[in-house]
Amino acid sequence: MKIKSRTLIAGSIIALIALTTMQGYLTFNTFDLRKNSFAVNSRTKIGSIVKTPYVDSLSWHYRMDFVKKIPEYRNGKITKEELILELENAAKSRNPTFKKYFKEGAEHFKLDPRVLFKKVASSLELTHEDGTTEQIIIESDKSPTFLLGTDFPTDEGYLINAWNWTFDEDFINNNNQTENVIITYRASLYMKIIDLDWIIFNQLIGLFLIAFLLFVFVVLLVSYSIRNLLKLKHISDVKTDFINNITHELKTPLATLSIATKTLSSKFAQDNKEIAKVSIDTINRQNVRLQNLIDQVVDNSLGYNDIKLNLEQVNLTDFTNEICDDFSLTLTNDIQFLRSIENTQTLAHIDPFYISTAIINILNNAIKFDGTVIKLTYKITDHYHVVTISDNGIGISKKNKSLIFGKFYRINEQNKHSYKGLGLGLYYCNQIIKAHHGTISVKSEEHEGSTFCIKIPLNHGKENFTS
Ligand code: ADP
Repeated sequence: MKIKSRTLIAGSIIALIALTTMQGYLTFNTFDLRKNSFAVNSRTKIGSIVKTPYVDSLSWHYRMDFVKKIPEYRNGKITKEELILELENAAKSRNPTFKKYFKEGAEHFKLDPRVLFKKVASSLELTHEDGTTEQIIIESDKSPTFLLGTDFPTDEGYLINAWNWTFDEDFINNNNQTENVIITYRASLYMKIIDLDWIIFNQLIGLFLIAFLLFVFVVLLVSYSIRNLLKLKHISDVKTDFINNITHELKTPLATLSIATKTLSSKFAQDNKEIAKVSIDTINRQNVRLQNLIDQVVDNSLGYNDIKLNLEQVNLTDFTNEICDDFSLTLTNDIQFLRSIENTQTLAHIDPFYISTAIINILNNAIKFDGTVIKLTYKITDHYHVVTISDNGIGISKKNKSLIFGKFYRINEQNKHSYKGLGLGLYYCNQIIKAHHGTISVKSEEHEGSTFCIKIPLNHGKENFTS
C-alpha cells in the first residue's frame, strides 16, 4: 500500500509536470504561429493596398518628375545630392495623398492600424551610352532614401517586397546632341508592427485564460486526489495498527483464560477445591478484563455529538483534589505526584463523570509513558477553568503533537508494544472536552515530557442553573 500510493503520487506529479510542460510548449507554439500568420496576413494586405491603381499611379508620377531632373544632372546644373533630394521631394509632395489612400485601403482590407508601412529607394543607377554605370543611391546604404509611408528605422521593420524599375530616357546634352541614359531604380517595401506580442496576446487572451483555468483545475484535482489518497492511506494504517493493538490486548486474557479452563477441567482441580477456586477467580477476572476492553472500544469511540452530558455545578477545587487523592492511592513509591490547586468558590458546570474520565486518562498516560514526576494544576483565568497535567516522560515529537487526538492514533515507534493501548484515550478526552465547548492542547518536547492543558469556558452550561 505504501509503495503503491507513493508510486501513484509520484506518477500524478510527473504527469502533471509533463502536462504543464506540454501545455506551455503548445501555448508558446500557438503564440509564435499566430505572430507569423499575423505578419504574413499584414504583408498580403499591404501588397493588395499598394497595387491599387490610385496608389500605384502616385509612384509613377513622382518617378516621372524625377526622371525629368536627370538631364539637369547630366548637364551639370545640379549635383548628385541635389538629384537625390529631387527624388525625395517628388515623393514627399505625394506622401499626404499616399497616406490618405493607404488608410482607406487599410480600412477596406482590415489591416491593423498598428502596422506601419514605408517605401524606400534602395538603389539607383544610371547607365550611359558608352556603357559606363554611375551609382546615385548605393544598394548597401544602411539608410535608404525614404519615399512614401511612415518613416521608421529600417532595421526595426521587415522587408516585405522589392522590385526594379528601368526607364530609358533621351535628352539633349550641353553639346546639343541627343544622349541616352538608362535609369535602373530599386524600390523596397518595409513593414513594422507595433507591439506585435501584445496584439497576439490580446487575440489569445481567451484561450490563455481557459488554459490557465484548466491548469488550476487539474492542479486542484490532483492535489485533492493526493490528499484523499493520503487520508485513505492514513485511515488504513490506523485501522491496521488498531487491529494489531486489539489483537495484542486480547491475547493475554485469552491465553490466561485458556490456561485457567484447562486447569479447571484437569484432575487436580477436581480433587482440589482451592485450585478450582483460583481458576474460577482467574476466569472471572479475565472475563471482566475482556468486557472492559470491549467497553473501552465502544465508549471511547463516541464522537462529542454522541456524548450526553449530565451537567452539575461542581467546585473544581474540591473535585480535582478528590481525583488527585484517588490517583495517589494507585501510585508506587517511585512516582512523585504534585498538585497546585487554586482555591476558588467559582463553580464549573460540567459532567463530573466525563471530566474525571478525561483527567484520569491523561494522568494514566503520564505514568504509562514513563513519567516519574507528575503534576496537576488547576486555576481560573479570565474566561476559563484551566487544568494542566504535566509529566517528565518520553515526550511527543513535533509532528505527532497534532495527531495524537485522532481516533486510534498511536505513535508508531519500534518499541510500541512496550506501551499498551488502543489509541482511543486522547481521542475520547478531546471529544469529552469538546462536548463541554472547551479545548485540549499539548506542549511537549521529545525525551523531556509533556504538558496537557484542558480549558473549559467559565460560562459553559451556566444557563442551565440560573433561574
Ligand atoms: P494510547 O495511550 O491507548 O496509546 P492515547 O489516545 O491515550 O492512546 O494516546 C495516543 C498516543 O499519544 C499514545 O500512543 C502516545 O504515543 C501519545 N501520548 C499520550 N500521552 C502521552 C504522554 N503523557 N507522554 C508521551 N506520549 C503520550
